[in-house]
Amino acid sequence: MEAGRVGQFCHCGCRAELKTSWTSTNPGRRFFGCPNFGRNTKKCNLFEWFDAEIADRPRIVIVGLLKKRSEMENARKHERMFWVICVIVLLYLVIFG
Ligand SMILES: [Zn+2]
Repeated sequence: MEAGRVGQFCHCGCRAELKTSWTSTNPGRRFFGCPNFGRNTKKCNLFEWFDAEIADRPRIVIVGLLKKRSEMENARKHERMFWVICVIVLLYLVIFG
């Protein structure tokens, strides 16, 4: 799709939204989609890629970086939970110990 078609209307009369795919096959690739997609009130399944297909090498690198970021976020959540539990245990010991 050409950039000149940004702002097009979809089948149900809504202005199509430019969204970004984060699937492993198309990470970061933008597409036009209906804002009503998935709602029962209007059946509209507009879907049209905006960006060209991503070459294999950049796709593999992007997917690897996304996976690494997710792992780091999970590790940070676990670390934060560990410290919250430590504070709770410490408070319990100070109050009831
Ligand atoms: Zn629509």
